[in-house]
Amino acid sequence: MSVATARARRSGAASAGVAGALRLPSVDAVLRTGAARTAIERFGRSATTGAVRERLDEARAAWQRGEAGALSAEVAASEAQARLELAASPSQRRVFNLTGTVLHTNLGRALLAEAALAAVQAAMSAPTTLEFDLDRGQRGERDDHVRGLLRSLTGAEDACVVNNNAAAVLLVLNTLAKGRQVVVSRGELIEIGGAFRLPDIMARAGCRLAEVGTTNRTHLRDYGEAISARTALLMKVHTSNYAIVGFTASVPTRQLATLAGEHGLPLVEDLGSGTLIDLAQFGLAHEPTVAEAIEAGADLVTFSGDKILGGPQAGLIVGRADLIRKLNRNPLKRALRLDKLRLAALEATLGLYLDPDRLPERLPTLRLFLRSPDELAPLAERVKAGLASVVGDRFEVAAVPCDSQIGSGALPLASLPSRGVALKPRARRGQGRALGALAAALRRLPVPVIGRTEDGRLMLDVRCLDDPERFLAQLPELAREGAGAAA
Ligand SMILES: *Cc1c(COP(=O)(O)O)cnc(C)c1O
Repeated sequence: MSVATARARRSGAASAGVAGALRLPSVDAVLRTGAARTAIERFGRSATTGAVRERLDEARAAWQRGEAGALSAEVAASEAQARLELAASPSQRRVFNLTGTVLHTNLGRALLAEAALAAVQAAMSAPTTLEFDLDRGQRGERDDHVRGLLRSLTGAEDACVVNNNAAAVLLVLNTLAKGRQVVVSRGELIEIGGAFRLPDIMARAGCRLAEVGTTNRTHLRDYGEAISARTALLMKVHTSNYAIVGFTASVPTRQLATLAGEHGLPLVEDLGSGTLIDLAQFGLAHEPTVAEAIEAGADLVTFSGDKILGGPQAGLIVGRADLIRKLNRNPLKRALRLDKLRLAALEATLGLYLDPDRLPERLPTLRLFLRSPDELAPLAERVKAGLASVVGDRFEVAAVPCDSQIGSGALPLASLPSRGVALKPRARRGQGRALGALAAALRRLPVPVIGRTEDGRLMLDVRCLDDPERFLAQLPELAREGAGAAA
């Protein structure tokens, strides 16, 4: 109820001559309590006074409706304080990602390594050499902080960084192909969750799309036939979130690079996730590396910072120095550039790649990919026991094998054998509603828990559960919630 309605009711009550029967503390009396003094310390006098007034107005209104309205100064103060705390709690909160998708775009993708966290903290609390060259005492380039690392990790001549991979593709196309034609295979005209559709980005970049081949098969001659005087570049896009299987053909980077070279055109490859090391060395499926694409002859390669790489949101572009120079001269680069915090996080993350042997212990993303079913099984048992004790009367709770995904469009067909907990309603009827209510109750926990519903069960994959104590400690709230919802 708004304060205005509460006031209106209060005056109504006064005119009916019953106001004197409700004894409420004065605003001043409430403000003298300990809780109110704490609230004033945290939220300021005017916000606290407003919250106290609102609470007292509600008490009067309740009393006028015939409900109990009485309120002590202490209770009014602590309720007003709780209200202020709630309003001040951040909108972006931590959650438990039990979806089974490690790099979940909606849940913020990669978690940063300790080294990256420390670098961000340092960069935000003091002036830095963001664009300052200490040797020469002159203005420097912000991308210089990662240029050397990216060159040595990918074998490319040069590198630059922007806001995300979508921005990287936009900058490359706008710089090299504005008003001209870009040749792409029909099988690679991707849409990545939300609003990244390659044809739309092309249009925004001012390019015309020349689609070649068919959905399942594109040959070298298809590219060759499409090249004309209007062609600005050839583009290859990693089909990151789907796979075309069966009777298929696509042209490898090396052959495309040769063709592009014969026509004096650059070959641009959007690797999507892109990875700096061969994941096969850790027993994962092979994902094309950036160094491989450069070695095969791509003139520019774009990829994301917060997918498999495990860093902050960023778009990385590596390749020929003359082309990178053109990108840096495009005014759009300024609009798309990285801020100092993410640049610090990126530099620290890339630094970890210089010692690949220790990456699994230092890079959270890789550590999560590599958790084995044997490591996860006891965790799933603990989660199962915790959940069974609070919702076991209403749900069958079982620890089960399941499959996690890398996510964010990387290796869409590769799954990581995992362990999870499956919850299935005991009642035969209204199962869909029961599952929905349970999922909603989990989302209302102090640290919300996000799972996935599949085959009439709620699945909680424990691969990304990093703080089981905290998870288990909040489960009793679920029993209270559940009892309320069932009633
Ligand atoms: C994920 C992806 C993008 C978009 O990258 P963002 O970093 O999310 O902007 C572009 N192209 C491909 C192939 C991708 O997989």
